Amino acid sequence: MGVCPLPKEGIYDKKKSEDLSEWYTQVIEAAGIVDRRYPIKGTHVWLPYGWKIVKLLDSIIRREIEATGHEEVQFPTLVPESYFKKEAEHIRGFEGQVFWITRAGYSELEERYLLRPTSESAMYPLFSLWIRTHKDLPLRIYQIVNVFRYETKQTRAFLRMREFHFFEAHTAHATYEESEEQIKSHLKVVERVIKDSLRLYYIASIRPEWDKFAGAYYSIGIDAIMPDGRTLQIATVHQYKDNFSRAYNITYKDEKGEEHYVHQTTFGMSERLVGAIVLAHGDDYGLILPPAVAPIQAVIVPITFKDVEESVLTEARKIYETLKNAGIRTHLDDRMDETPGSKFYYWELRGVPVRVEIGPKDIEKDQVVLVLRTTREKRCVPRSDLVNAVKTALREINDYLLKRHEEEFKKLMYDVDSIEDAKKILEEKGRAVIITGWCGSEECADELMRVLDLKILGRDLYGRKKHKKCPICGRESLGDVYLAKTY
Ligand SMILES: [Zn+2]
Repeated sequence: MGVCPLPKEGIYDKKKSEDLSEWYTQVIEAAGIVDRRYPIKGTHVWLPYGWKIVKLLDSIIRREIEATGHEEVQFPTLVPESYFKKEAEHIRGFEGQVFWITRAGYSELEERYLLRPTSESAMYPLFSLWIRTHKDLPLRIYQIVNVFRYETKQTRAFLRMREFHFFEAHTAHATYEESEEQIKSHLKVVERVIKDSLRLYYIASIRPEWDKFAGAYYSIGIDAIMPDGRTLQIATVHQYKDNFSRAYNITYKDEKGEEHYVHQTTFGMSERLVGAIVLAHGDDYGLILPPAVAPIQAVIVPITFKDVEESVLTEARKIYETLKNAGIRTHLDDRMDETPGSKFYYWELRGVPVRVEIGPKDIEKDQVVLVLRTTREKRCVPRSDLVNAVKTALREINDYLLKRHEEEFKKLMYDVDSIEDAKKILEEKGRAVIITGWCGSEECADELMRVLDLKILGRDLYGRKKHKKCPICGRESLGDVYLAKTY
Protein backbone atom coordinates (compact mmCIF):
# COMPACT_ATOMS: atom_id res chain seq x y z
CA MET A 1 0.00 0.00 0.00
CA GLY A 2 1.54 3.30 -1.05
CA VAL A 3 1.55 5.69 1.83
CA CYS A 4 0.53 9.26 1.17
CA PRO A 5 3.46 11.66 0.97
CA LEU A 6 1.66 14.63 2.52
CA PRO A 7 2.59 15.93 5.97
CA LYS A 8 0.68 14.08 8.65
CA GLU A 9 0.93 16.53 11.46
CA GLY A 10 0.56 20.26 11.53
CA ILE A 11 -1.59 20.64 8.42
CA TYR A 12 -4.64 19.15 10.08
CA ASP A 13 -5.73 20.97 13.19
CA LYS A 14 -9.43 21.78 12.78
CA LYS A 15 -12.25 19.90 14.44
CA LYS A 16 -15.29 18.99 12.40
CA SER A 17 -17.51 20.06 15.24
CA GLU A 18 -15.95 23.53 15.34
CA ASP A 19 -15.43 24.54 11.72
CA LEU A 20 -16.88 22.16 9.14
CA SER A 21 -15.65 24.05 6.11
CA GLU A 22 -12.05 24.38 7.27
CA TRP A 23 -12.04 20.81 8.62
CA TYR A 24 -13.22 19.57 5.21
CA THR A 25 -10.53 21.46 3.32
CA GLN A 26 -7.80 20.18 5.61
CA VAL A 27 -8.92 16.60 6.08
CA ILE A 28 -9.19 15.71 2.37
CA GLU A 29 -5.52 16.55 1.90
CA ALA A 30 -4.26 15.30 5.24
CA ALA A 31 -6.01 11.96 4.69
CA GLY A 32 -4.32 11.56 1.31
CA ILE A 33 -7.38 11.81 -0.94
CA VAL A 34 -6.31 14.68 -3.18
CA ASP A 35 -3.57 17.26 -3.62
CA ARG A 36 -5.15 20.61 -4.34
CA ARG A 37 -1.95 22.39 -5.34
CA TYR A 38 -2.43 21.82 -9.07
CA PRO A 39 -2.40 25.32 -10.61
CA ILE A 40 -5.72 25.18 -12.52
CA LYS A 41 -8.71 26.35 -10.53
CA GLY A 42 -11.38 23.71 -9.98
CA THR A 43 -9.10 20.75 -10.65
CA HIS A 44 -7.15 18.51 -8.31
CA VAL A 45 -4.83 15.54 -8.29
CA TRP A 46 -6.20 12.28 -6.95
CA LEU A 47 -3.61 10.65 -4.69
CA PRO A 48 -3.24 6.85 -4.46
CA TYR A 49 -5.45 6.48 -1.38
CA GLY A 50 -8.16 8.77 -2.75
CA TRP A 51 -8.07 7.11 -6.16
CA LYS A 52 -8.54 3.69 -4.53
CA ILE A 53 -11.74 5.04 -2.94
CA VAL A 54 -12.93 6.27 -6.37
CA LYS A 55 -12.12 2.93 -8.02
CA LEU A 56 -14.10 1.04 -5.37
CA LEU A 57 -16.99 3.46 -5.84
CA ASP A 58 -16.83 3.00 -9.63
CA SER A 59 -16.82 -0.78 -9.26
CA ILE A 60 -19.99 -0.61 -7.15
CA ILE A 61 -21.65 1.65 -9.72
CA ARG A 62 -20.59 -0.68 -12.57
CA ARG A 63 -21.89 -3.74 -10.74
CA GLU A 64 -25.29 -2.17 -10.00
CA ILE A 65 -25.89 -0.47 -13.36
CA GLU A 66 -24.79 -3.53 -15.35
CA ALA A 67 -27.22 -5.62 -13.32
CA THR A 68 -29.95 -3.52 -14.97
CA GLY A 69 -28.81 -4.25 -18.51
CA HIS A 70 -26.49 -1.30 -19.19
CA GLU A 71 -23.22 -1.72 -21.11
CA GLU A 72 -20.17 0.47 -20.70
CA VAL A 73 -18.94 2.66 -23.57
CA GLN A 74 -16.32 5.36 -23.95
CA PHE A 75 -17.01 8.46 -26.06
CA PRO A 76 -14.42 11.08 -27.07
CA THR A 77 -13.86 14.03 -24.74
CA LEU A 78 -14.25 16.51 -27.63
CA VAL A 79 -17.61 17.37 -29.15
CA PRO A 80 -17.94 19.25 -32.46
CA GLU A 81 -19.88 22.50 -32.19
CA SER A 82 -22.40 21.30 -34.80
CA TYR A 83 -23.38 18.37 -32.53
CA PHE A 84 -23.78 20.65 -29.56
CA LYS A 85 -25.98 23.15 -31.41
CA LYS A 86 -28.85 20.75 -32.05
CA GLU A 87 -30.98 21.03 -28.91
CA ALA A 88 -31.85 24.64 -28.08
CA GLU A 89 -32.71 24.26 -24.37
CA HIS A 90 -29.62 22.20 -23.80
CA ILE A 91 -27.43 24.87 -25.39
CA ARG A 92 -29.01 27.60 -23.29
CA GLY A 93 -28.38 25.55 -20.14
CA PHE A 94 -24.73 24.79 -20.80
CA GLU A 95 -23.41 27.51 -23.08
CA GLY A 96 -22.06 29.62 -20.22
CA GLN A 97 -20.17 26.65 -18.76
CA VAL A 98 -18.44 25.29 -21.82
CA PHE A 99 -14.71 25.18 -22.47
CA TRP A 100 -13.95 25.65 -26.18
CA ILE A 101 -11.04 24.49 -28.27
CA THR A 102 -10.48 26.90 -31.11
CA ARG A 103 -6.83 26.37 -32.04
CA ALA A 104 -4.71 23.30 -32.71
CA GLY A 105 -1.03 23.45 -33.55
CA TYR A 106 -0.45 26.56 -35.67
CA SER A 107 -3.95 26.95 -37.06
CA GLU A 108 -7.45 28.03 -36.11
CA LEU A 109 -9.87 25.10 -36.28
CA GLU A 110 -12.51 25.27 -38.99
CA GLU A 111 -15.07 23.98 -36.53
CA ARG A 112 -14.72 24.65 -32.82
CA TYR A 113 -14.75 21.70 -30.39
CA LEU A 114 -15.98 21.75 -26.85
CA LEU A 115 -14.89 19.69 -23.89
CA ARG A 116 -17.96 17.65 -22.89
CA PRO A 117 -19.84 19.17 -19.95
CA THR A 118 -22.05 16.03 -20.17
CA SER A 119 -22.44 13.71 -23.15
CA GLU A 120 -25.91 14.10 -24.69
CA SER A 121 -24.55 16.07 -27.62
CA ALA A 122 -21.70 13.61 -28.21
CA MET A 123 -23.83 10.47 -27.97
CA TYR A 124 -27.16 11.26 -29.58
CA PRO A 125 -25.97 11.80 -33.17
CA LEU A 126 -24.55 8.27 -32.86
CA PHE A 127 -27.79 6.98 -31.33
CA SER A 128 -29.54 8.18 -34.47
CA LEU A 129 -27.21 5.94 -36.52
CA TRP A 130 -27.38 2.95 -34.17
CA ILE A 131 -31.14 2.81 -33.70
CA ARG A 132 -33.05 1.63 -36.78
CA THR A 133 -35.92 -0.61 -35.72
CA HIS A 134 -37.73 -1.64 -32.54
CA LYS A 135 -35.26 -4.51 -32.32
CA ASP A 136 -32.50 -2.03 -31.43
CA LEU A 137 -34.46 -0.97 -28.35
CA PRO A 138 -34.13 -0.54 -25.47
CA LEU A 139 -30.64 0.87 -25.73
CA ARG A 140 -28.85 1.18 -22.39
CA ILE A 141 -25.31 2.46 -22.09
CA TYR A 142 -23.16 4.24 -19.54
CA GLN A 143 -19.70 5.68 -19.20
CA ILE A 144 -17.46 6.86 -16.37
CA VAL A 145 -15.36 9.78 -17.62
CA ASN A 146 -14.13 13.25 -16.72
CA VAL A 147 -16.34 16.17 -17.73
CA PHE A 148 -15.60 19.88 -17.82
CA ARG A 149 -17.72 22.79 -16.70
CA TYR A 150 -16.58 26.35 -16.41
CA GLU A 151 -17.91 27.04 -12.91
CA THR A 152 -18.02 30.72 -12.16
CA LYS A 153 -18.99 30.30 -8.51
CA GLN A 154 -16.31 29.52 -5.94
CA THR A 155 -14.94 26.05 -6.62
CA ARG A 156 -14.86 23.44 -3.86
CA ALA A 157 -13.11 20.07 -3.81
CA PHE A 158 -15.49 17.33 -5.15
CA LEU A 159 -18.53 19.59 -4.74
CA ARG A 160 -17.98 22.28 -7.38
CA MET A 161 -15.22 21.46 -9.83
CA ARG A 162 -14.30 22.54 -13.33
CA GLU A 163 -13.04 19.07 -14.22
CA PHE A 164 -14.66 16.17 -12.41
CA HIS A 165 -15.13 12.42 -12.37
CA PHE A 166 -18.59 11.63 -13.74
CA PHE A 167 -20.89 8.66 -14.24
CA GLU A 168 -23.63 8.99 -16.85
CA ALA A 169 -26.16 6.40 -18.06
CA HIS A 170 -28.18 7.06 -21.22
CA THR A 171 -31.14 4.98 -22.37
CA ALA A 172 -33.55 4.98 -25.31
CA HIS A 173 -36.95 3.26 -25.38
CA ALA A 174 -39.82 2.63 -27.77
CA THR A 175 -42.48 4.19 -25.54
CA TYR A 176 -42.85 6.73 -22.77
CA GLU A 177 -44.16 3.99 -20.46
CA GLU A 178 -40.99 1.97 -20.93
CA SER A 179 -38.84 5.00 -20.22
CA GLU A 180 -40.84 5.57 -17.02
CA GLU A 181 -40.04 1.99 -15.96
CA GLN A 182 -36.39 2.79 -16.59
CA ILE A 183 -36.60 5.78 -14.25
CA LYS A 184 -37.86 3.46 -11.49
CA SER A 185 -34.95 1.13 -12.18
CA HIS A 186 -32.48 4.05 -11.97
CA LEU A 187 -33.94 4.99 -8.58
CA LYS A 188 -33.31 1.46 -7.34
CA VAL A 189 -29.69 1.75 -8.42
CA VAL A 190 -29.50 5.06 -6.55
CA GLU A 191 -30.70 3.25 -3.45
CA ARG A 192 -28.27 0.37 -3.85
CA VAL A 193 -25.27 2.61 -4.39
CA ILE A 194 -25.95 5.57 -2.12
CA LYS A 195 -27.88 4.01 0.73
CA ASP A 196 -26.81 0.36 0.77
CA SER A 197 -23.12 0.90 -0.04
CA LEU A 198 -22.23 4.49 0.90
CA ARG A 199 -24.60 4.53 3.88
CA LEU A 200 -26.00 7.96 3.05
CA TYR A 201 -29.60 8.90 3.75
CA TYR A 202 -31.24 11.11 1.11
CA ILE A 203 -34.42 12.71 -0.13
CA ALA A 204 -35.74 12.39 -3.67
CA SER A 205 -37.75 15.19 -5.22
CA ILE A 206 -39.01 16.38 -8.59
CA ARG A 207 -37.12 19.54 -9.39
CA PRO A 208 -39.28 22.57 -10.18
CA GLU A 209 -39.63 23.52 -13.86
CA TRP A 210 -37.04 26.30 -13.66
CA ASP A 211 -34.47 24.03 -12.07
CA LYS A 212 -34.71 20.93 -14.26
CA PHE A 213 -31.86 19.70 -16.46
CA ALA A 214 -31.48 21.68 -19.67
CA GLY A 215 -33.61 19.87 -22.25
CA ALA A 216 -35.34 17.47 -19.83
CA TYR A 217 -39.07 16.81 -19.59
CA TYR A 218 -38.62 16.45 -15.84
CA SER A 219 -35.70 15.95 -13.44
CA ILE A 220 -35.43 14.05 -10.17
CA GLY A 221 -32.86 15.32 -7.69
CA ILE A 222 -31.32 13.16 -4.98
CA ASP A 223 -30.15 15.34 -2.08
CA ALA A 224 -28.39 14.48 1.15
CA ILE A 225 -28.24 16.80 4.14
CA MET A 226 -24.77 17.69 5.32
CA PRO A 227 -23.96 18.43 8.98
CA ASP A 228 -24.26 22.19 8.49
CA GLY A 229 -27.90 21.82 7.43
CA ARG A 230 -27.20 22.46 3.75
CA THR A 231 -28.19 19.89 1.15
CA LEU A 232 -25.94 18.44 -1.49
CA GLN A 233 -27.27 17.08 -4.79
CA ILE A 234 -25.56 13.71 -5.16
CA ALA A 235 -27.45 12.13 -8.06
CA THR A 236 -29.93 13.11 -10.74
CA VAL A 237 -32.31 11.09 -12.89
CA HIS A 238 -33.90 12.73 -15.92
CA GLN A 239 -36.86 11.92 -18.14
CA TYR A 240 -36.22 13.41 -21.58
CA LYS A 241 -39.35 12.03 -23.23
CA ASP A 242 -38.75 12.73 -26.95
CA ASN A 243 -37.17 16.18 -26.48
CA PHE A 244 -33.70 15.11 -27.54
CA SER A 245 -34.74 12.46 -30.05
CA ARG A 246 -36.64 15.13 -32.03
CA ALA A 247 -33.58 17.40 -31.99
CA TYR A 248 -31.14 14.61 -32.88
CA ASN A 249 -33.54 12.68 -35.12
CA ILE A 250 -33.38 9.40 -33.20
CA THR A 251 -36.18 7.26 -34.61
CA TYR A 252 -37.10 3.60 -34.98
CA LYS A 253 -39.48 1.63 -37.17
CA ASP A 254 -42.10 -0.44 -35.33
CA GLU A 255 -43.38 -3.88 -36.48
CA LYS A 256 -45.68 -2.22 -38.99
CA GLY A 257 -42.86 -0.18 -40.43
CA GLU A 258 -44.08 3.09 -38.90
CA GLU A 259 -41.47 5.55 -37.76
CA HIS A 260 -41.44 6.92 -34.16
CA TYR A 261 -39.17 9.03 -32.00
CA VAL A 262 -37.53 7.20 -29.07
CA HIS A 263 -38.05 8.18 -25.44
CA GLN A 264 -34.92 8.76 -23.42
CA THR A 265 -33.68 8.87 -19.84
CA THR A 266 -30.39 9.67 -18.18
CA PHE A 267 -28.94 9.10 -14.76
CA GLY A 268 -25.84 10.83 -13.40
CA MET A 269 -23.59 10.79 -10.34
CA SER A 270 -20.15 12.24 -9.74
CA GLU A 271 -17.18 12.62 -7.40
CA ARG A 272 -19.55 14.68 -5.23
CA LEU A 273 -20.29 11.31 -3.63
CA VAL A 274 -16.77 11.35 -2.20
CA GLY A 275 -17.42 14.82 -0.78
CA ALA A 276 -20.68 13.59 0.73
CA ILE A 277 -18.95 10.63 2.39
CA VAL A 278 -16.31 12.91 3.89
CA LEU A 279 -18.79 15.51 5.13
CA ALA A 280 -21.51 13.18 6.36
CA HIS A 281 -19.51 10.39 8.00
CA GLY A 282 -16.26 12.02 9.17
CA ASP A 283 -15.60 13.23 12.72
CA ASP A 284 -13.07 15.25 14.73
CA TYR A 285 -10.46 12.51 14.18
CA GLY A 286 -10.79 12.53 10.39
CA LEU A 287 -12.53 10.40 7.77
CA ILE A 288 -14.79 7.47 8.46
CA LEU A 289 -15.12 5.35 5.35
CA PRO A 290 -18.06 3.02 4.79
CA PRO A 291 -16.55 -0.51 4.49
CA ALA A 292 -17.73 -0.82 0.86
CA VAL A 293 -15.39 1.94 -0.33
CA ALA A 294 -12.64 1.64 2.28
CA PRO A 295 -9.36 0.75 0.47
CA ILE A 296 -8.31 -0.78 3.80
CA GLN A 297 -11.11 -2.28 5.88
CA ALA A 298 -8.89 -3.53 8.69
CA VAL A 299 -5.44 -2.25 9.60
CA ILE A 300 -3.17 -4.29 11.86
CA VAL A 301 -0.98 -2.31 14.25
CA PRO A 302 1.59 -4.44 16.09
CA ILE A 303 2.34 -3.14 19.59
CA THR A 304 6.04 -3.83 19.74
CA PHE A 305 8.60 -3.44 22.52
CA LYS A 306 12.32 -4.14 22.54
CA ASP A 307 13.18 -7.87 22.65
CA VAL A 308 9.67 -8.96 21.57
CA GLU A 309 9.57 -7.21 18.20
CA GLU A 310 10.07 -10.29 16.09
CA SER A 311 7.53 -12.49 17.88
CA VAL A 312 4.85 -9.77 17.71
CA LEU A 313 5.51 -9.16 14.02
CA THR A 314 5.31 -12.88 13.31
CA GLU A 315 1.85 -13.02 14.91
CA ALA A 316 0.80 -9.82 13.13
CA ARG A 317 1.74 -11.39 9.78
CA LYS A 318 -0.34 -14.46 10.59
CA ILE A 319 -3.31 -12.22 11.41
CA TYR A 320 -2.78 -10.39 8.14
CA GLU A 321 -2.86 -13.65 6.16
CA THR A 322 -5.96 -14.87 7.97
CA LEU A 323 -7.93 -11.67 7.35
CA LYS A 324 -6.76 -11.32 3.77
CA ASN A 325 -7.73 -14.90 3.01
CA ALA A 326 -11.16 -14.21 4.47
CA GLY A 327 -11.68 -11.53 1.78
CA ILE A 328 -11.18 -8.53 4.06
CA ARG A 329 -9.09 -5.67 2.59
CA THR A 330 -6.29 -5.68 5.15
CA HIS A 331 -3.07 -3.77 5.69
CA LEU A 332 -0.26 -4.55 8.12
CA ASP A 333 1.43 -1.38 9.33
CA ASP A 334 4.88 -2.77 10.14
CA ARG A 335 6.77 0.53 9.89
CA MET A 336 9.42 0.38 12.58
CA ASP A 337 10.12 4.11 12.72
CA GLU A 338 6.62 5.02 13.90
CA THR A 339 5.12 4.50 17.36
CA PRO A 340 1.82 2.61 17.71
CA GLY A 341 0.24 5.89 18.88
CA SER A 342 1.17 7.78 15.74
CA LYS A 343 -0.06 4.83 13.63
CA PHE A 344 -3.44 4.98 15.42
CA TYR A 345 -3.69 8.66 14.57
CA TYR A 346 -2.60 8.07 10.97
CA TRP A 347 -5.20 5.37 10.22
CA GLU A 348 -7.98 7.09 12.12
CA LEU A 349 -7.44 10.18 9.97
CA ARG A 350 -7.73 7.96 6.87
CA GLY A 351 -10.99 6.50 8.10
CA VAL A 352 -10.06 2.80 8.22
CA PRO A 353 -13.14 1.13 9.78
CA VAL A 354 -11.42 -1.45 12.00
CA ARG A 355 -8.05 -1.42 13.76
CA VAL A 356 -6.56 -4.69 14.98
CA GLU A 357 -3.96 -4.38 17.73
CA ILE A 358 -1.66 -7.18 18.78
CA GLY A 359 0.97 -6.94 21.52
CA PRO A 360 2.92 -9.33 23.77
CA LYS A 361 0.11 -9.48 26.34
CA ASP A 362 -2.43 -10.32 23.65
CA ILE A 363 -0.20 -13.12 22.41
CA GLU A 364 -0.06 -14.52 25.94
CA LYS A 365 -3.83 -14.41 26.22
CA ASP A 366 -4.31 -15.69 22.66
CA GLN A 367 -6.39 -12.64 21.74
CA VAL A 368 -6.39 -9.45 19.67
CA VAL A 369 -7.86 -6.02 20.36
CA LEU A 370 -10.29 -4.56 17.85
CA VAL A 371 -11.09 -0.85 17.76
CA LEU A 372 -14.11 0.41 15.80
CA ARG A 373 -13.48 3.69 13.97
CA THR A 374 -17.08 4.89 14.42
CA THR A 375 -17.48 4.67 18.20
CA ARG A 376 -13.79 4.01 19.01
CA GLU A 377 -15.01 1.10 21.11
CA LYS A 378 -12.34 -1.46 22.06
CA ARG A 379 -13.02 -5.19 22.02
CA CYS A 380 -10.82 -8.07 23.19
CA VAL A 381 -11.43 -10.97 20.87
CA PRO A 382 -10.11 -14.56 21.05
CA ARG A 383 -7.77 -15.33 18.15
CA SER A 384 -9.95 -18.24 17.12
CA ASP A 385 -12.81 -15.80 16.56
CA LEU A 386 -10.76 -13.20 14.64
CA VAL A 387 -12.39 -13.32 11.21
CA ASN A 388 -15.89 -13.52 12.57
CA ALA A 389 -15.26 -10.64 14.99
CA VAL A 390 -13.83 -8.35 12.26
CA LYS A 391 -16.74 -9.14 9.95
CA THR A 392 -19.20 -8.43 12.75
CA ALA A 393 -17.47 -5.12 13.49
CA LEU A 394 -17.64 -4.11 9.80
CA ARG A 395 -21.35 -4.94 9.75
CA GLU A 396 -21.95 -2.90 12.89
CA ILE A 397 -20.02 0.06 11.47
CA ASN A 398 -22.12 -0.18 8.33
CA ASP A 399 -25.36 -0.15 10.33
CA TYR A 400 -24.16 2.65 12.55
CA LEU A 401 -23.21 5.00 9.70
CA LEU A 402 -26.58 4.96 7.96
CA LYS A 403 -28.50 5.13 11.23
CA ARG A 404 -26.48 8.09 12.43
CA HIS A 405 -26.79 9.95 9.14
CA GLU A 406 -30.53 9.34 9.05
CA GLU A 407 -30.94 10.57 12.64
CA GLU A 408 -28.89 13.70 12.02
CA PHE A 409 -30.81 14.25 8.79
CA LYS A 410 -34.20 13.99 10.48
CA LYS A 411 -33.14 16.34 13.26
CA LEU A 412 -32.55 19.02 10.62
CA MET A 413 -35.93 18.59 8.87
CA TYR A 414 -38.99 20.51 9.97
CA ASP A 415 -42.59 20.28 8.82
CA VAL A 416 -44.33 23.65 8.92
CA ASP A 417 -47.72 25.00 7.86
CA SER A 418 -46.92 28.68 8.01
CA ILE A 419 -44.17 31.12 7.12
CA GLU A 420 -44.07 32.31 10.75
CA ASP A 421 -43.31 28.78 11.99
CA ALA A 422 -40.63 28.34 9.34
CA LYS A 423 -38.98 31.63 10.26
CA LYS A 424 -39.05 30.73 13.95
CA ILE A 425 -37.31 27.41 13.29
CA LEU A 426 -34.67 29.00 11.09
CA GLU A 427 -34.02 31.62 13.73
CA GLU A 428 -33.68 29.00 16.48
CA LYS A 429 -31.69 26.39 14.56
CA GLY A 430 -29.67 28.54 12.21
CA ARG A 431 -30.07 26.04 9.36
CA ALA A 432 -32.80 23.57 8.59
CA VAL A 433 -34.61 21.85 5.76
CA ILE A 434 -38.17 23.17 5.72
CA ILE A 435 -41.00 20.98 4.45
CA THR A 436 -44.28 22.64 3.59
CA GLY A 437 -47.11 22.74 1.05
CA TRP A 438 -46.99 24.47 -2.33
CA CYS A 439 -49.72 25.28 -4.83
CA GLY A 440 -47.32 24.90 -7.75
CA SER A 441 -47.29 28.52 -8.92
CA GLU A 442 -43.97 30.14 -9.68
CA GLU A 443 -44.91 33.40 -7.90
CA CYS A 444 -45.57 31.54 -4.65
CA ALA A 445 -42.31 29.64 -5.05
CA ASP A 446 -40.38 32.88 -5.55
CA GLU A 447 -42.03 34.40 -2.50
CA LEU A 448 -41.36 31.27 -0.39
CA MET A 449 -37.69 31.27 -1.35
CA ARG A 450 -37.37 35.02 -0.82
CA VAL A 451 -38.91 35.24 2.66
CA LEU A 452 -37.09 32.15 3.94
CA ASP A 453 -33.89 32.77 2.02
CA LEU A 454 -33.87 29.09 0.99
CA LYS A 455 -34.00 27.24 -2.30
CA ILE A 456 -36.83 24.90 -3.31
CA LEU A 457 -35.34 21.47 -3.94
CA GLY A 458 -38.58 20.14 -5.33
CA ARG A 459 -41.76 18.26 -4.63
CA ASP A 460 -41.46 14.95 -2.79
CA LEU A 461 -41.07 12.19 -5.37
CA TYR A 462 -43.29 9.74 -3.55
CA GLY A 463 -46.29 12.05 -3.22
CA ARG A 464 -45.88 13.01 0.43
CA LYS A 465 -48.75 15.40 1.25
CA LYS A 466 -48.70 16.24 4.92
CA HIS A 467 -49.49 19.91 4.30
CA LYS A 468 -52.84 20.69 2.77
CA LYS A 469 -52.28 24.32 1.81
CA CYS A 470 -49.74 26.61 0.18
CA PRO A 471 -48.43 28.84 3.00
CA ILE A 472 -48.24 31.84 0.64
CA CYS A 473 -51.62 31.92 -1.11
CA GLY A 474 -53.66 29.46 0.94
CA ARG A 475 -54.70 27.47 -2.12
CA GLU A 476 -54.57 23.66 -2.11
CA SER A 477 -51.07 22.17 -2.04
CA LEU A 478 -50.05 19.80 -4.84
CA GLY A 479 -47.63 18.00 -2.52
CA ASP A 480 -44.95 18.71 0.05
CA VAL A 481 -41.87 20.63 -1.06
CA TYR A 482 -38.41 20.70 0.48
CA LEU A 483 -36.63 24.02 0.98
CA ALA A 484 -32.98 24.24 1.96
CA LYS A 485 -29.69 26.04 1.66
CA THR A 486 -27.74 24.11 -0.94
CA TYR A 487 -24.12 23.45 -1.77
ZN1 LIG B 1 -49.47 29.39 -3.57
